[in-house]
Amino acid sequence: MTFPSVRLAYNPRAIDPREPRLSLVPYITQRAREDAASDNLFIARHSSGPRLYYRDEDPRDRDPRGALWARCSWNPVDAQGRITGEPQWKLMHPHRQMVCMQTMVCQVCTRPARTPLGFIFLAGPRDHGPTQARILTNQPPVCPKHARAAAKLCPHLEDNPMVFLAKSAPLFGVHGTLYGLEGQGVKVVAQPDAPLPYGHANIGTFLASQLVRRLQSFRTVGLDELLEDLAKSAPA
Ligand SMILES: [Zn+2]
Repeated sequence: MTFPSVRLAYNPRAIDPREPRLSLVPYITQRAREDAASDNLFIARHSSGPRLYYRDEDPRDRDPRGALWARCSWNPVDAQGRITGEPQWKLMHPHRQMVCMQTMVCQVCTRPARTPLGFIFLAGPRDHGPTQARILTNQPPVCPKHARAAAKLCPHLEDNPMVFLAKSAPLFGVHGTLYGLEGQGVKVVAQPDAPLPYGHANIGTFLASQLVRRLQSFRTVGLDELLEDLAKSAPA
């Protein structure tokens, strides 16, 4: 089974030498030996239409809205609770991305990402037009403490990210792979660039690998100004 890996392109050379390297591997970064699990998908017909399943499906294979997720193994954690294995800096672990997006925790440290001013989302400097009204993102939020680190570690952000401050960011849908029937088995039908919205007719035979949110009531801000404003709004 394959699924589109998320390009994050964290740059290990950009790690701040004042901080221990391990503490700065973002939670969502995939590690060596965390691999796609064996493929045993099948499609069954339902009253609501065809639906994709794993033959040995577990409740954890679906998100709260019922979408089926691509499987990827998890490495064990060390005595400090940190995930082990050499960081695969260019890849996001699909389930850890989903957990961060689902629960709106920081993609680096997994602490709640909500700030008194809203949620901080980062994007590359050319990912979105400055006046774009609709922003969909697969990048989980960051907490104020890790906004700068994430901007530095990810070459895609060029240490000059677009910074969005969003009052809310409702779930939109999933990136992934559309499957269809082929004889007694299944085949890949499409790997669309655009995310499939929850509620779409094809969601039943879609294998998700990234969760996408839509920024709502958001504004574009400068990172320095935002962090200054947050410092001022922090309780004394
Ligand atoms: Zn954080």
